[in-house]
Amino acid sequence: MITLCLEATAHTAALGVIDDKGKILADARDMYKTEKEGLIPLDVAKHHNKVFPELLKQVLEEVDIKDIGLIAFSQGPGLSPCLLEGMRFAKELAKKLNVPLVGVSHLAAHLEIGKLFTKAKDPVFILATGANTQIIFFEEDRYHISGETLDIGIGNALDKFGRKIGLGFPAGPKIEELAKRGEYIELPYTVKGQDLVFAGLVTEAINKYKKGIKMEDLCYSLQETAFAMLCEVTERAMAHCGKKEALLIGGVAANKRLMEMLDIMCKERNAKFYAVPLKYSGDNAIMIGWQGILQYKSNKKYYDNLKLKDIDIKPGWRVDEVDVNWS
Ligand code: AMP
Ligand code: MG
Repeated sequence: MITLCLEATAHTAALGVIDDKGKILADARDMYKTEKEGLIPLDVAKHHNKVFPELLKQVLEEVDIKDIGLIAFSQGPGLSPCLLEGMRFAKELAKKLNVPLVGVSHLAAHLEIGKLFTKAKDPVFILATGANTQIIFFEEDRYHISGETLDIGIGNALDKFGRKIGLGFPAGPKIEELAKRGEYIELPYTVKGQDLVFAGLVTEAINKYKKGIKMEDLCYSLQETAFAMLCEVTERAMAHCGKKEALLIGGVAANKRLMEMLDIMCKERNAKFYAVPLKYSGDNAIMIGWQGILQYKSNKKYYDNLKLKDIDIKPGWRVDEVDVNWS
């Protein structure tokens, strides 16, 4: 049996096909990008509505539609208009193909695909995405959040600064490039217990830019400060939970400097650092498919009898609210 999977929580519309051993058969994506401004949810949803039929065409060049036995989609968390587009398309397909539909947590999917690709067993997860930043660990059938951002996600923090200085969306990769030519200047470092605050840091970086401080220096210092905050809380989580692995996931996991800093921290405490492969660090459909397969396998009867009308989006779904009955 193969699973058709669909992602539409935020900027990326993606469709893929994966089998139950984790073999990837098709992986089509279309990311909403802008030159200057940020993400406007209704515009992004319109983009997804437009590209899904084209993505489906691409996917069906790789697999036979008759072999699809399951559909998985991102139920949340995410931007409601985007989630609704995704669910509408997924339900249409499930109805047409008469196969079960599994709704999954986008965040749990980021965690599980990280484990699949890195073979990490029981890590402290550093979830560093656009909208989210959380330090997560697994204990007694549930994910727990050791610490998290109290305002915006680390990716959004980078994007927000980038937008103000005219880098467009996504700004993360451009900031990483500019940072290579920068020097350190002090910016506010805010860790409260195990939680993080990024807004003040971004505001101060923007203020300094307006005062004429070099873009490169601000990119470098913004990264160094935000990433050091992440390292601090990750290290403490590892010490508290007695875990010997750290696994970096989410779109910001593409950043080489962040990987380097976490790797140094892990080496210093004889722990192992893993990062999800670049291609699967950001939002993608494959992770949704793998998560869907894990859930379906452990609860087949439930999903076989689940009616489409009883499935809905969950825009504010937290990872510690997810019932983990698959591992
Ligand atoms: P996600 O929400 O997981 O899809 O991740 C998207 C976020 O990752 C956006 O905020 C991007 O700016 C950020 N991002 C992507 N590549 C990089 C990079 N090389 N360095 C820092 N942030 C990045
Ligand atoms: Mg994501």
